[in-house]
Amino acid sequence: MGNDILVLVEHHAGAVHDSAAELLGKARELAGATGGQAVAVLLHDGWGDTHASALPADRVLSVEHTAFANFLPEAYVIALEAILRDRDPRLTLIANTTVGMDLAGSLSARMSSPLVAYCVDLAIDGDVVVATSQVFGGKLNAEVELPSGIASVVAGAFPPAEGGGAPEVEAVAPMAGLDSLSMTFLGRIEPETSDVDITAEEILISVGRGIGGEENVELAQELADALGGVVSASRPVADAGWLPKTRQVGKSGRKVTPRLYIACGISGAPEHLEGMRDAELIIAINTDEKAPIFDVAHFGTTEDLFDILPALTERIEAATSVA
Ligand code: FAD
Repeated sequence: MGNDILVLVEHHAGAVHDSAAELLGKARELAGATGGQAVAVLLHDGWGDTHASALPADRVLSVEHTAFANFLPEAYVIALEAILRDRDPRLTLIANTTVGMDLAGSLSARMSSPLVAYCVDLAIDGDVVVATSQVFGGKLNAEVELPSGIASVVAGAFPPAEGGGAPEVEAVAPMAGLDSLSMTFLGRIEPETSDVDITAEEILISVGRGIGGEENVELAQELADALGGVVSASRPVADAGWLPKTRQVGKSGRKVTPRLYIACGISGAPEHLEGMRDAELIIAINTDEKAPIFDVAHFGTTEDLFDILPALTERIEAATSVA
């Protein structure tokens, strides 16, 4: 077994995914402990070489083939299996995204290698890798030890690497199996577009099932207008169509880090907290004092949101008009 830490570089439409810098930052740290290298794996159809030298890695393994023009799990698994068998790294890091979840399981099965999914921390302790993984939808963390293996890492678990690494870029010959794939890429179905990108907003007024119905979302909209923010939602609100799916915060929605997040009638299920717990200031309005949202809130009230929201809007409008 080698000492390198491999990172699959995820990319979409010619842009490297944010996860690459996060995983490579951790890979560099771990490689420092194993005495190996942080090795990025870039599977691409020609554009990748311009990006390769900017990656914060010690080495980049660059595989160019038309099969990588779009994401085809079969092509990725063929390439990754060949690379892992050849390089025998201590650890392979893959982002716990839809792409990563697609790959990590089948790669683990093919390699007969352990997989730690939903990984939120990693360390090297002597000869073992110590991985912390979220279980039960994020309610508990489990710490496991493994000699080597694969980890699929939750977004935002590690800070991005600072600066590039001036890596050595090594062209790897495309694997034979890439020319006879059984899977064909037909087309991409783009997600619904939204008038706003909630991940880029500084102030979010987020409504949950406690808002009661679509007709009440206006109360949150008025507060958002007064504060210069936008309205986001928990999953039941998006599922009910009270707000577009693109406004959904959480595990199956967007991860947001605004300066202010006001949670109105949101219980704080782990899947919701996953998407907003890193907000700078969290204020919770929930009539249930035991609601888990209060575990992450900096301030909170158990008053009824139908009293609080109009009162808050009125105060802010009054303060703004005086100013
Ligand atoms: P509830 O849990 O029903 O909470 C409503 C809250 O409103 C309660 O706490 C109640 O006390 C309070 N309330 C009621 N009336 C008032 C009032 N008048 N004033 C003040 N407070 C009031 N959820 C997400 O949000 N985002 C996701 O991305 C997501 N992904 C998921 C992925 C998976 C695989 C699974 C299994 C679940 C996912 N969920 C997600 C769902 C999640 O588990 C919860 O069911 C959901 O977050 C609950 O939404 P909620 O807090 O709006 O509703």
